[in-house]
Parts: sequence; C-alpha cells; structure tokens
Amino acid sequence: MPTPFPSRHAATTGAANTKPTTLNPEWRCTRCYKLLGVCRDARMHLRFKRGHEYLVGFPVQANCRGCGTLNQATSPVR
Ligand SMILES: [Zn+2]
Repeated sequence: MPTPFPSRHAATTGAANTKPTTLNPEWRCTRCYKLLGVCRDARMHLRFKRGHEYLVGFPVQANCRGCGTLNQATSPVR
C-alpha cells in the first residue's frame, strides 16, 4: 500500500534538531516545541489558522497555540 506514513519523518526530526540555524530558522515553543513562526529577512513570520499571517519585527512575543506558554524571541535567527 503506497500510503505515506509520517512516522519516519518524525523520527528523523527529533530532539537533535532543536537549535535554529540558517537552514532551520524556525521559532518553536520552549515548552512543547510547537512551531510558532519562521524567521525571514530579520523579521518573524507568524502564521495562524484561517489564513491569518503576521510579519513582525523583533523583539516578538507570542502565545503558543498548543500549551499557551508565552514565548519571546529577542533577535533574528541568523
Ligand atoms: Zn507550547
């Protein structure tokens, strides 16, 4: 059956890839590691449900959609 299971992908992107790098400019929740936004051109790109998107400058604070933790990013990820 050609069903693409995501388990292999989840296993390969484990705890070893928590630090944001140039190749992985993701801003994630400090508690549950949920994706909060993506750093683009010295700004943070936040995406929410229903197509709402925000491009904000630093510092930026946002509540995690998963656990409600207030996260803060003080400088762009480079
Ligand atoms: Zn969270």
